[in-house]
Amino acid sequence: MEKVLQNKVETIDLWIGGKRITPIKNNYFNDLNPEDDSIFARVAEGEKNDIEYAVLNAHEAFKTYRHSLAKEREEYLLKTALLVEKYQKDFVNILIKEVGSPIGKALYEVEYAINCLRAAAGIARRINGQTLPSDNVGRFALTMRQPLGVVGAITPFNVPLLKSTKLSSSPLATGNTVVLLPSEEAPMITSLLVDMYHEAGLPPGTVNMVTGKGAIIGDSLTTHPLVKAVMFTGSSRVGKHIGELCGSRMKRCLLELGGKSPLVILEDADIEAAVDAAVSGQFFFQGQACMASSRIYVDKKIEAKFLSRFIEKTEALTLGDLDDPNTFVGPIISQRQRDRIQHHIQDAFEKGAKIHTGGEWIGNRCKPTILSGVNDTMKVFQEETFGPVTSVYSIDGLDEAIEWANKSNYGLSSAIFTKNLNHAFRFMQEIEAGMVHVNAPTILDEPHVPFGGVKDSGFGREGTDIDVETLTELKWATINLT
Ligand code: NAD
Repeated sequence: MEKVLQNKVETIDLWIGGKRITPIKNNYFNDLNPEDDSIFARVAEGEKNDIEYAVLNAHEAFKTYRHSLAKEREEYLLKTALLVEKYQKDFVNILIKEVGSPIGKALYEVEYAINCLRAAAGIARRINGQTLPSDNVGRFALTMRQPLGVVGAITPFNVPLLKSTKLSSSPLATGNTVVLLPSEEAPMITSLLVDMYHEAGLPPGTVNMVTGKGAIIGDSLTTHPLVKAVMFTGSSRVGKHIGELCGSRMKRCLLELGGKSPLVILEDADIEAAVDAAVSGQFFFQGQACMASSRIYVDKKIEAKFLSRFIEKTEALTLGDLDDPNTFVGPIISQRQRDRIQHHIQDAFEKGAKIHTGGEWIGNRCKPTILSGVNDTMKVFQEETFGPVTSVYSIDGLDEAIEWANKSNYGLSSAIFTKNLNHAFRFMQEIEAGMVHVNAPTILDEPHVPFGGVKDSGFGREGTDIDVETLTELKWATINLT
């Protein structure tokens, strides 16, 4: 194991059929450290034929793995959880260097991955059918659940360990086999997870990983006839494309996409708690979070007070060494993302928005930025910025808050701060979002909950319990006893 870990720091190869293999064309690309864009690793650039090979291996492995016992799958996943715990330092180190995670975020992700593997182990024994009454004398009726086959799992750069674990552990728990296509900006962390699965004893071919450029090879995975379901997390643009490809092939897909999550703060809110939720909910991982509170609606009666405390606490966030537990804000993943964030701030400023704090860069880090005076002509209003930039809007009471909060193409998470139970309940019912929290930040996630969004934020829900439905085929069976 030690040798494998050392090897991986330099070069990442494909994982197919229980072996690390070089890509067919022997091409490699650079995986950059976002702090200074230095080369962190060399990564196998898989192409169409590598995907084909991985899918065939996964399909072959499925023929046996589908008959594995629940207790065996449970044990593989629990062993993997123990291994992730054992190699926690390696995971944290990669999350810091590969995607620029402050150590607090890296530790959160590793802990989540361990919990997720344990939660997934728990569903292996809960893949239940039912007995049903029949309208015919002597007919015994039942339902049974069966695994689908090969599942394609495609992950984003921002929570790469969390998502690689979530999108692979449930398929494995339910008796499916997996081909992982990790973000080209975060392949090494997924590679280490796949090492752990193999070390835990999962049979060859049950978990495969093809690294490469998703925009070039993603379609060959999505459209492969032997891939029976696609679990995707990423941008709404790519998600819609995958949804179209799956829809026309009658293939299951789970789409966890972008967000522009509203945080509503009513007049009677606990302002300090709301400020803390705004700071942590927006600037966690420098705003590169799908559930970030990128729209903050504050009642005009408390707006001035909220804004001054929000600015104060935001300016206290530190941009230090990523290994330092006090550091909250790290670098932005890529030049493409940095340009986008810069463009959104500039566009808002030129169209009349006020920058209360931030808007400046230190190397590849953008200082946490708070805007007001934002209107619907500005990019920052219309699109996901995916950086440390949020806008504060003034509202007059609950009705206006709900009206504005729903004026978005996205509908992932949402939150409200109020002491009024009736207002909280109305918001929970009327907000157009897959997730809603009262007196809590917009960023919340647990492995077993139904996680997901509406509108452009996605299709379907992920989470261990609901994954049993997504990842198994329900069959009605009868036995004629007469
Ligand atoms: P992205 O859409 O650019 O890439 C996501 C993945 O899709 C990558 O692995 C990429 O290689 C792959 N890909 C690209 N084109 C493809 C194609 N044609 N077929 C198949 N795969 C393809 O997203 P990103 O920049 O890595 O991540 C940020 C986005 O992810 C944001 O929009 C964010 O909101 C979203 N996100 C959503 C959730 C959620 O649970 N809803 C969680 C994390 C991130």
